[in-house]
Amino acid sequence: MLPAQRAPGGFPVVGIIGGGQLARMCQPPAVGLAVTLSVLAESQDASAALVVPHSPVGAHDDLEAVREFARGCDVVTFDHEHVPAHVLSALLADGVRLHPHPDALRYAQDKLAMRERLTAMGIPCPRWAPVADEAELRAFGDEVGWPVILKTPRGGYDGKGVRVIADPAEAADWFGHQETLLAEERVDFTRELAVLVARSPSGQACAWPVVQTVQTDGICTEVLAPAPELDDDLATAMIDAGLRIAGELGVTGVMAVELFAVGDTPGFVVNELAMRPHNSGHWTIDGAVTSQFEQHLRAVLDLPLGDPSPRTRWSVMGNVLGGDDEELYSTYRHLFARDPGLKMHLYGKGVRPGRKIGHVTVCGDDLPQLRERAEHAADFLRGVVRE
Ligand code: ADP
Repeated sequence: MLPAQRAPGGFPVVGIIGGGQLARMCQPPAVGLAVTLSVLAESQDASAALVVPHSPVGAHDDLEAVREFARGCDVVTFDHEHVPAHVLSALLADGVRLHPHPDALRYAQDKLAMRERLTAMGIPCPRWAPVADEAELRAFGDEVGWPVILKTPRGGYDGKGVRVIADPAEAADWFGHQETLLAEERVDFTRELAVLVARSPSGQACAWPVVQTVQTDGICTEVLAPAPELDDDLATAMIDAGLRIAGELGVTGVMAVELFAVGDTPGFVVNELAMRPHNSGHWTIDGAVTSQFEQHLRAVLDLPLGDPSPRTRWSVMGNVLGGDDEELYSTYRHLFARDPGLKMHLYGKGVRPGRKIGHVTVCGDDLPQLRERAEHAADFLRGVVRE
C-alpha cells in the first residue's frame, strides 16, 4: 500500500476508514482546503473510491490492512461505526490520532452502552432495559406496555436491527444468536428531529439548527431545516443536550443526535447517536455557510470551526432511493430544465430498489414549495413519476 501523496505546503493527510457516500462528500471540501484524503475502501468501485485518488482497497476489520492504511495518515476518522474495538485499540497503540476517540465512539457503536451513559447524564431517553431472554423481555413489556421496540445493540442501520414486538415469542429467533438485546418502550412521538454538532479536540463546539427528519418505511426520505414550528426554548434545550453529550463523551468531529419529539415535558427523548457526518446534515452542503463535511475535516484536524448558520430561511433535502432503472443521467435534462435551483448529489452507487443512492437539496423562502420540488426530483430519479 503506497502512502497518499501530500500537497506541497505542509498540508495533512486525513484518512477515512470506509468508502461510502460520507467519505465521498468529504472530497469537495478537502479539495478546497488542499487537504489530501485517503480512503480505506471496501472495493475499487466504492462510492468514495470513485472520487478520491488514494483509495486502497481493504476491509475495516482486517487488522493489518487498517494498520498499514493508518500509517500513511496524519489523522484517521470514519465513514461508519463498524470498526471493531480490537482494531481501534491496535491503532491507538500504534500512536494513530483517531477522531472520534474509541472511548467516545463506543457510544455510537453500542446502543446499550449509549442508553446507560445518557441515562446516567440525565439526558431524556425512552424507558429501556437490557434483556437477555424472553422472560426478561416479557417482564419489561408488562411494565412499560406492549408493543415494545427491540434492538440489536450493534450493527443496525436504516431500521435493520429494530423490531416492534407485540409478544415475546416473536423475538425467539433473536435470542440465542445475539448477546443481550436492548428493549425500549415504544415512544408515541409527534415527529423525529435531529441535532447536529461538531466538536474539535481543543473543545470548540458548535451546532447547526435542529432539523426534522421524515421517515418512510423506516428510511429517512426528507429533512426539513430548520424544523418547522419548533418552540425556541425546546430547540435550545435540544442543542444544549447535543453539545453536552459531545463535551462529556469527548466526541471529536461531527455527531448527530437523533431525537423523538414528545408532547410531555421535557418535549424530547434521544433515540440514538451517530459520530460522523449524518444524513440529517446533508442539507448543510448547499444550505449552510459551513457544511458538515468541511466541519468534520476542520474538527478532526483541530482547526477553528466554521460558521454553521443557514444561508436561507429554509432548506429541504430529499433522499434519492433507487428504483428499477439504472440509467440516471438521462433524468438530468428534464430535472434541470424544470428546476434550475435544484442541487443534485448522486453517490455513484449501483442502483438497487430502495437503496440510498443520492440526495437533492433546494433552499429558499417557501417551505411547501421547496418540499414539493425536492419530492418531485427524488420521485423522478426513482422513476415513480415520469413528468
Ligand atoms: P437504526 O440504527 O437502524 O437507524 P433506530 O434506532 O434509529 O435504528 O430506529 C429506526 C426507527 O425505528 C426510528 O427512526 C423510529 O422511527 C423507530 N424507533 C426506534 N426506536 C423507537 C422507539 N423507542 N419508539 C418508537 N419508535 C422507535
